[in-house]
Amino acid sequence: MFRANNPTLKSWVNVPAGNDFPIQNLPFGVYRAEGGEPHLCVAIGEHVADLYVLSEHGFFDDLAIERNIFRQPVLNDFIALGKDKTRAVRNRLSEILDDDLETWDASELAPFFLIPQASAELLLPLHIGDYTDFYSSREHASNVGAMFRSAENPLLPNWLHLPVGYHGRASSIVVSGTPVRRPKGQLMADGAEQPVYEPTRQLDFELEMAFVIGKNTELGQTVSTAEAEDYIFGMLLFNDWSARDIQRWEYVPLGPFLGKNFASTVSPWVVTLDALEPFRVDGPKQEPEVLPYLQCTGARGFDLQLEVHIAPETGAAKQVCHSNFKYLYWNMCQQLAHHTSNGCNIRTGDLCASGTISGPTPDSFGSMLEISWKGTRPVAMPDGSERRFIEDGDTVVMRGWGEKDGIRIGFGEARGKVIPSSI
Ligand code: CA
Repeated sequence: MFRANNPTLKSWVNVPAGNDFPIQNLPFGVYRAEGGEPHLCVAIGEHVADLYVLSEHGFFDDLAIERNIFRQPVLNDFIALGKDKTRAVRNRLSEILDDDLETWDASELAPFFLIPQASAELLLPLHIGDYTDFYSSREHASNVGAMFRSAENPLLPNWLHLPVGYHGRASSIVVSGTPVRRPKGQLMADGAEQPVYEPTRQLDFELEMAFVIGKNTELGQTVSTAEAEDYIFGMLLFNDWSARDIQRWEYVPLGPFLGKNFASTVSPWVVTLDALEPFRVDGPKQEPEVLPYLQCTGARGFDLQLEVHIAPETGAAKQVCHSNFKYLYWNMCQQLAHHTSNGCNIRTGDLCASGTISGPTPDSFGSMLEISWKGTRPVAMPDGSERRFIEDGDTVVMRGWGEKDGIRIGFGEARGKVIPSSI
């Protein structure tokens, strides 16, 4: 048990009921105060706590961490210190913010290091060198297979034997709040004889989570499932925006390309794997048995609730999905073991996304492709309009959290508004 996870802790900083960021969470991010430079921070209630300001007041001096590590535009160097140090910082923060402990009482300094989140610009918290997207939800893969191949036999032969994935584009990953321009691309409409180059007509979200690599490996090195969590710093929400019509025309035979790489939206907070400890659960039973290098012991799933809302430009928002990270067939340890099983090296700050996280029932499907079943079952919006896919002016909002013993460990939001294509 980490000190910071103790459910009896209370902070002297106000944390409203239902807030994602109690003292037991302390997710890491990067913010810029108005006119200021980027500093590392954690979320506490409706505030961010500035780690550089705390370091300047000597709060981390005995941890032997260079102060400038907290005055950077990304978390990478901080994460690369290793879990011994980053855990010590999180535990120290839980002391600084603790209602009960006087050793590190910092409440008098609050005006100097606590900033309302509303006035803090939260930045993309990582330099993401590489990004990999998996396809690890059996329900999602089965739905897509049933729509486009065979309802009786929806999974391809490899699917139950390895966590299928592909290398995505890191440069177009944006932080929550960044507008997403409707992409143009080459489309081949049903029944058409020639493709056209037009704005996508089937813009979609994919409800995913991503884990952040916390430690480099050397080229040629493998990471076992037992070692994998040492290499995972934490997790965030991930919307893998997708243009279904572009994707469908281009993907043969090499897979996703321009239908995927125009944007992905992440939440600004990296919730540590340590903070998610209370939510461990067993994953689905894997049958047939997987090869030895993919076998795992212990509870490697996490019970994390996930929601997607669509908010039109005018009118009320509609919740279109409620899913859970625990549904994933392949867990993060298996994904990472498979990723490195050929000696492919990984680097601090890399992201590995889960793939769309769909559950067993239609209200838990994680993309409009599935929710509207290829557009055949439109979703009724509160204003009387319908959605088969995402329209210009719509904002897609993803939220995620675990809840246990009255403590809610949340991820904040991954939010993106769709703006019209430039033609
Ligand atoms: Ca995806």
